[in-house]
Amino acid sequence: MLSTMQDAQLSIATLLRHGATVHAGSEVVTWTGTEGRTTTFAQVGAQSARLANALRGLGVTGDQRVATFMWNNAEHLTAYLAVPAMGAVLHTLNVRLFPEQLTYIANHAEDHVVIVDATIAPLLAKVLPTFETVKHVIVANGDAAGLTAPEGVQVHSYDELLAAQSDQFEWPEIDERSAAAMCYTSGTTGNPKGVVYSHRSIWLHSMQVCAADGMGLSSGDRSLVIVPQFHAMSWGMPYAAFMCGASLIMPDRFLQPEPLAKLIEATRPTHSAAVPTIWQGVLAYLDQHPADLSSLREVIVGGSACPPSMMHTFAEKYGIHIVHAWGMTETSPLGTLCRPPAGLSESETWAYRYTQGRLPAGVTARLIGDNGEELPWDGESVGELEVAGPWITGSYYRLEEDGEGAEKFDDGWLRTGDVGTLTPDGFLTLTDRSKDIIKSGGEWISSVELENHVMGHPAIAEAAVIGVPDDKWDERPLVAVVLREGATAEPAELREFLSDKVAKWQLPENWTFVSEVPKTSVGKFDKKVLRAQHAEGKLD
Ligand code: ADP
Repeated sequence: MLSTMQDAQLSIATLLRHGATVHAGSEVVTWTGTEGRTTTFAQVGAQSARLANALRGLGVTGDQRVATFMWNNAEHLTAYLAVPAMGAVLHTLNVRLFPEQLTYIANHAEDHVVIVDATIAPLLAKVLPTFETVKHVIVANGDAAGLTAPEGVQVHSYDELLAAQSDQFEWPEIDERSAAAMCYTSGTTGNPKGVVYSHRSIWLHSMQVCAADGMGLSSGDRSLVIVPQFHAMSWGMPYAAFMCGASLIMPDRFLQPEPLAKLIEATRPTHSAAVPTIWQGVLAYLDQHPADLSSLREVIVGGSACPPSMMHTFAEKYGIHIVHAWGMTETSPLGTLCRPPAGLSESETWAYRYTQGRLPAGVTARLIGDNGEELPWDGESVGELEVAGPWITGSYYRLEEDGEGAEKFDDGWLRTGDVGTLTPDGFLTLTDRSKDIIKSGGEWISSVELENHVMGHPAIAEAAVIGVPDDKWDERPLVAVVLREGATAEPAELREFLSDKVAKWQLPENWTFVSEVPKTSVGKFDKKVLRAQHAEGKLD
C-alpha cells in the first residue's frame, strides 16, 4: 500500500524560497578585513534570481556545471543557492590545489562557467588556458579588467551582469535525485575523485545539521563558517542556515588567527566549525593577544582528530563547548557527531567527548576486520569503518568510465579508509587512517592517540606522528613537534610525559622539532609530505 502523502520533491529551490521569505531578515555578514558588509537572506534570494537569469543568458540551460573559485562570502552563498535551484550543478573548486589538479578537475567535471573572486583571479588566470570546456568567467567582488582570458572565453563583471537582470526567476521543478552540487576530494591515490550531491541528499543532510543531536543549528544562531565553501560544502552550514534561518558570518579570505579573533569579537557568532589546526592557531594567538570570544556557545571540530587538550583549553579558559565530529567529502560530510548520553559523571562525559561521536539514523555503519569479517561493536575490536545511507556517496563521478576509486566501494558500502572502534551505543573512535597506520613488531600503534597525548604537553603547539622504517620492528613512530612560542622541551622530557599514558613499547624514540607541520589544501596535517621529508633525510 502506498501512503497518502504528497510527492513533494526535496529541492534547493524550496530551501532558497523558504530562507528568502520566512527568514528574510537573517543576515549574511562578509568580513572585509576591517568590518563586515551585511546583506539579508531576502537580498540573497533576489541576487540568486539575478544570477540564475544571467547564467541562463550564458547558455546554462540544463545540468551544465557552474564552478566557483571563491572564498566564503555572500556571492559564493548566492551561487550555492542559484546554481542548483535553476537545475544546473554547482562545482566548488578548491582554490588551494596545485594547478595540475585544478586542470584535471575542471576538465573532468566539464565546467561551463567559472565564478571567481577578483582577489584570486590571477591564480585562476594561470590555469584557465588549460580548462577545455569553460566558456565564461564571472569576476565577483572586484574588478574584472585584470583578468586576461584565453581565446574563446568571455570575461564578465558579476556586478554588471547581475545589475541587468530581473530579481524574479521561475525556479523549475527538479527530480530530487538530480545532481545539485559536486566537490572533488583529493583522495589517497591517483586523481581527485568527484562526489556528486543530490537535492535530496543536501536536504536530508541539512536536517541533520539542524537537529538538536546534530549540529543543533537554529534561527537564534549566528554561524561563523570557517570551513571553506570549497571543502565538503562548508560541512553543510550554508544550506542548513537557509533551512533554519541561522545568520551566517563569512570570513572571506581572512582565515589567519589574528583576523579570525578580531572578526569573532566584532561580529559575535554563537556557533562555528573548523578543522583543529585553525583552532590551534587561534588559541596560540589568544595566548598573546586576549580577545572576547564569549559569544560562541559551541564550536564543531572535525576533519581530523580533535586533541582532547584543545577541548579542555576551550572549555576551561573560554567557556566554549567543543563538539567533535567525523565526516568526509563522500559523506556530505556529517558522519558522526558527539553528543554524550545524559546522566553520566563528568569524567565519563569527557571520555565520550573525546570520541568522534555517534552515528545518526541517516548513517549506517559496519566495522570490517583484516580478513573481510564483520567485527562487533564492543568498543575494542579495531577495523575499517564502512558506511551507507542517503547522504553517503555510492560511487564517484564517471567511475564507470575511468575506474578511478572503485576500491572505495564494497557491495553498497563506502569504505572510508578510516580505522577504529564502535561502542554498542554507536560511538566511533578513530585510531588512524588506514594509510597512516603504524605497525611496530606486528602490533598497531595509533598515531592519533600519540598525537593527542603529545599535544597535551604545555610546550607543544602541534604534533604529527608518522611511521618510519625500522630494521628491528619494521616500523616505529616518529613525532614531528612544533613548540609553542618561547617554550622549550627535550625528547627525554616528552617521553617521560607520555610514560604513564601509553604502553612502554609504544613510547616513541624518534623525535624531530620543526617550525611547522606541513598542511594539506584543507588544513590537515600532511603526513604524505612528512614521510617524503623523512625519506629525504630532512627530518633528522
Ligand atoms: P581529505 O581526504 O582531502 O582530507 P576529506 O576532508 O573528505 O578529504 O577528509 C575525510 C577524512 O578526514 C576522513 O576519512 C578521516 O580520515 C578524516 N577525519 C575527518 N574527521 C575526523 C575526526 N574527527 N577525527 C579523525 N579523522 C577525521
